[in-house]
This record gives sequence, structure tokens and C-alpha cells, in this order.
Amino acid sequence: MANRKRVLITGAAGFLGSHLCDRFIAEGYDVVGMDNLITGDLKNIEHLFKLEQFEFYHHDVSKFIHVPGKLDYILHFASPASPIDYLKIPIQTLKVGSLGIHNCLGLARVKNARVLIASTSEVYGDPMVHPQTEEYWGNVNPVGPRGVYDEAKRFQEAMTMAYHTFHGLETRIVRIFNTYGPRMRLNDGRVLPAFIGQALRGEDLTMFGDGSQTRSFCYVSDLVEGIFRLLMSDYAQPVNIGNPDEITIREFGEEIIKLTGTNQKLVSKPLPKDDPKQRKPDITKAKEILGWEPKVNRAEGLKITYDYFKSLSPEELNKTAHRFD
Ligand code: UDP
Repeated sequence: MANRKRVLITGAAGFLGSHLCDRFIAEGYDVVGMDNLITGDLKNIEHLFKLEQFEFYHHDVSKFIHVPGKLDYILHFASPASPIDYLKIPIQTLKVGSLGIHNCLGLARVKNARVLIASTSEVYGDPMVHPQTEEYWGNVNPVGPRGVYDEAKRFQEAMTMAYHTFHGLETRIVRIFNTYGPRMRLNDGRVLPAFIGQALRGEDLTMFGDGSQTRSFCYVSDLVEGIFRLLMSDYAQPVNIGNPDEITIREFGEEIIKLTGTNQKLVSKPLPKDDPKQRKPDITKAKEILGWEPKVNRAEGLKITYDYFKSLSPEELNKTAHRFD
């Protein structure tokens, strides 16, 4: 239908991108998904291909983007997003955050579309302020292993703000904290798929360092709701979206052991360089501006996620090598 709103979602075949596609389809939008499938997987959006509201472009957004027809919104979610991914493909990570956002912003100007970019708690680096508020400028090592991701995302925010102030483009910036749920890639090296995968295969759970570092995990449906509200708001400054329920990685491992009933134990491995010691979002802004706060607690969210991983085939479960190995 010509009067339906139309949204372009880059990174559509990824974990977050695919859940966003589902949400916008459910809201009655026409959805154009775009992905180069370097870390995304078509199986995440397979169910959408039969719908006339959905179309898919196999394209790398670091290259010029051409989408015929109108676009009301552009959501830029294309990017490798786990520490292992960006260690293995550092140049692509830098390009999608810089050239990719430049192409998206240029496209948005031509289409007169509103742009929302996926930024990250990584812009705060190894934070000296706890919990992290949007006003904190961060503590990032530009030449460390995470630099390619952190600096790309920081550049992406700067570029987006410049298009907003200089060209008057409507822009939104979400700073996403650790998020989990079905469709996470089992072998992307992130802690949750790593622990659940190990438990399901009967292996010990690899805890990095002494496990005293903290993270705060947000269930994916809560994140999608926050993003939807931010897109529809008139607020152009960055907004943290995440669940402030903070936990140490050791406690998290113990929760996974209990949930899965595995007989295996936590074993300590070396802590990767520049691994942030603590992370927890201050979500005051999201509460005040968007009326948003997370609804799904960790016990509920982990149960759904565990059921998803349990439903994977033995072949998928045993594919432990990273896809670039
Ligand atoms: N981690 C771990 N074991 C693993 C993978 C990760 O202990 O097998 C730790 C990692 O060192 C970090 C935390 O879990 O402190 C979260 O890591 P993840 O890669 O999921 O995301 P990050 O928040 O570091 O970007």
C-alpha cells in the first residue's frame, strides 16, 4: 500500500536488525532489509521473505547505497558487534561505522528520511564513571583491540550530529548496552552464547579473568521497544538503552550453570586487553524522555534464550569455530 511508511534497516540479517525487522513489520511498515551477510545470517529473516511488506538487498553499506522509492526512516544497524568479530575483521568494522554511516546519511538527505543509528556503550570505553550517563565522554584506547569498533561508533555519532546540525537532518542516536536473546550467533565469542554453547556441549565455561568485571544484560524485546520509542521521539541527543541490573561475569556464569543444569564448572582464561571492568547504564534519560524502562528480568529472558539455543541442530551447536577461522 502506497501510504504505508517505509523503513530501511541496515544489518537486517543480524541479531538486532532481524528483531527490528519483525517489529516494524508488526507495526504495519514496509521494511527494506539490507545486509552484506558478513556476520548476519539469512536464517534470521527467512520467515519474512514471503511477506509483500518485506524486501531484501544483499549489499555492503560501505559502498554507495541505492534504494528506489520513498524512505521515511533509516536504521543503521550494520556492523560487526562482538569483540571477536572486530578483532577478525577490523577494517570492515571501521568502514561500516564511517563510510557506511556517510552513505546512510546521504541517502537520508535525498529521501528526506529520519535516521537512527546504533551506537554503543563501547563509546564509554573502560568507564571511569559508574553507572554511565550520556554526559560521560568515555575512556577509550583508540589503538587497542576494541579501538576499531569504539572509534568507528564515536565517529558515527559525530558524523550523525554534524548532519543534524549542518544539514538539519532528523537524527536519533541510541547507545546500546549488552543485549541478549534468540538469534545471537552461537560462535560470535560473546559471553552469553559462549557460556550456553559450552554448557550444551558439556564443556567447561570459559570465564575471562577472575570474573569480577560486570555487565548489565538487556533482553532484546526491551531494547527494540526503547529503539522504537526513540525513533518516534523528537530527541536528537544520544540515549542509553539497556538494563541497569548489573552482575559480575562470575555470577552470570553461575546463573547459566544453574539454568542449564550442566555438571561443568567455570574455568578462568586470560582477560582480553582493554576489557571494560564495569558497565551499567544510567537510564534516567530514557525513562524521562521516552517513558521507557526494561520489563523482562534476567531469569525470564535467559529462559527464552536458552530454549532458543536448545532448539538448534547438533551441527549448529558443534560449529565452534569463528566464521573467519
Ligand atoms: N567473557 C567471558 N567468557 C567468554 C566471553 C566473554 O568471561 O567466553 C567476558 C568478557 O571478558 C567480558 C564479558 O564477558 O568481560 C562480556 O563480554 P562480551 O564479549 O559478551 O561483550 P563486551 O561487553 O565485552 O563487549
